Amino acid sequence: MSFETSGMTEVFKVNNHELNDPGLTKNLANYFLDKEEKEIKRIAALVRFFQLDSCLSYNLSRYFDDKQAPIQCGHCSVCRGAIAQLEYSQQIPWPSDDMLIANAAALTRHLEGKINKRLTLEAYCRFFSA
Ligand SMILES: [Zn+2]
Repeated sequence: MSFETSGMTEVFKVNNHELNDPGLTKNLANYFLDKEEKEIKRIAALVRFFQLDSCLSYNLSRYFDDKQAPIQCGHCSVCRGAIAQLEYSQQIPWPSDDMLIANAAALTRHLEGKINKRLTLEAYCRFFSA
């Protein structure tokens, strides 16, 4: 097997009209927030699936509307008697109010003169979770 380049070059053009749309920032922020929420829900659904106490193959078959699958496949972890129990991250201790206030002030000082907007609560939260 070999791969060859097609010799094609993709050319993109910057649409300044679209870039200057005052709602673009908000639309993109909403888009990414929506994607983030959907990904969190998707991962939670996967964790729930893997921790089911009934045959995983049967449940997967039902998800895909396969009504022919046996109730017990005999080879998944549940059928072999080993129901998965995923480990969860350790809850980190909640910082003191003094520490939060000091770190928020440090972030504000660090960004002083670099951005011309007040930091949002969301921005502080993202900083603290990093
Ligand atoms: Zn099974």
